[in-house]
Amino acid sequence: MDNNTLAQRDLKVIWHPCTQMQDHESLPLIPIRRGHGAWLEDFNGNRYLDAISSWWVNLFGHTNPRISAAIQAQLHNLEHVILAGFTHEPIIELSEKLTRITPAGLTRCSFADSGSAAVEIALKMSFHYWQNQGRKNKTRFISLTNSYHGETLGALSVGDVALYKDTYQALLLDTIHVKSPDCYHREAGESWADCSLRAFADMERALARHAEEACAVIIEPLVQCAGAMRMYDPVYLARLREACDKYQVHLIADEIAVGFGRTGTMFACEQAGITPDFLCIGKGLTGGYLPLSVCLTNDDVYAAFYDTYATRKAFLHSHSYTGNPLACAAALATLDIFNENDVIGENKILSEHMRRACAHISEHPHVAEVRQTGMILAIEMVKEKNGRKPYPWQERRGLAVFRHALDHGAILRPLGDVIYFMPPYVIRPEEIEQLAKIAWEGINIATKE
Ligand code: PMP
Repeated sequence: MDNNTLAQRDLKVIWHPCTQMQDHESLPLIPIRRGHGAWLEDFNGNRYLDAISSWWVNLFGHTNPRISAAIQAQLHNLEHVILAGFTHEPIIELSEKLTRITPAGLTRCSFADSGSAAVEIALKMSFHYWQNQGRKNKTRFISLTNSYHGETLGALSVGDVALYKDTYQALLLDTIHVKSPDCYHREAGESWADCSLRAFADMERALARHAEEACAVIIEPLVQCAGAMRMYDPVYLARLREACDKYQVHLIADEIAVGFGRTGTMFACEQAGITPDFLCIGKGLTGGYLPLSVCLTNDDVYAAFYDTYATRKAFLHSHSYTGNPLACAAALATLDIFNENDVIGENKILSEHMRRACAHISEHPHVAEVRQTGMILAIEMVKEKNGRKPYPWQERRGLAVFRHALDHGAILRPLGDVIYFMPPYVIRPEEIEQLAKIAWEGINIATKE
């Protein structure tokens, strides 16, 4: 079997995610035969460094022996069971561990199977909490410009990436968007903290104005990943927590992309010392093996639903594969790896390596900025460095970098004109240097007139 034969069969029957299928008339579709560590291999024997962790899910490498063995062991006992009225050991152990390692006060875990589904739980639960409290006017959500929370209609409503959202506008909830604390827009000489605080004025105004009708504010802590890896300062989160308390509006932290060490701490919220009312996690939770997500919340929220059946206060939400035991086993093995190794400490060394390897890229005449938060590094290509004028999106410059990287053994799937590294934590320093070199050459090619 070779790449071409499989690609042809694929294109007859599969509609790929987030893809204009016509692109594949010129862009090769790559069938992957196997993965190992930070590497993937296709059916022609080409190898690719997975610099984006297969959509940000992989933490400890492909076919990680520890996680694979945990799933295999679980397979001998129980593959799945309905979670309403029944339970199993892996989910109990996982929930106990998650309530221990997430910010203090998050005591209850609701499970789902994708990040978007966890966001839907948080939105519905927050709304329903206020209904149960008699606050019937609380029906709206506040979120940030340039945010992303998933593709299902509720999650899409609170997101703000026009590319994914605009077409569906007529179907979406009426949400309140406030200015992102995104530090790409900081003024000359302004610190990240000052820039983020300046943006907070807009949030404070929105909270003051909409407190009576707002259920919750939903944010991606520290990095707006799908929003071109735009980053901001933790001080914003600290202020937001205070303001949400003051105005009696929930705070939902969507750590689906940034959780599990991506920003340099286990959870990004730790950097601001805050506990959200709802914490959504997914992606890296299973080390990138199986779909599993969780919405954690606190005793206060849980208590507002706890009553006799006839009060109709229960949260009657479910998904068929909620809390799948195989996925829980993968998650437990992933947490064991965190527990037994100094992953966060080792990542500090790796992220410093990424910083050094890419520092010179900011000097490129078509790079506006190289920014980094922990294990996420992003390079913003622009048409004009002065004034940061972007390329027209139709030119798809990022795609040229993607093609170049594929030809040179790396997967650097860009977000528009932003090239980023969000690698598995098993990447080696010399592989980071290789990525920096490929990115530099790719940017040269992409920005040639
Ligand atoms: N929230 C954030 C911050 C995300 O980055 C994503 C996925 N990129 C989601 C939610 C949605 O997760 P999923 O794709 O698993 O539905």
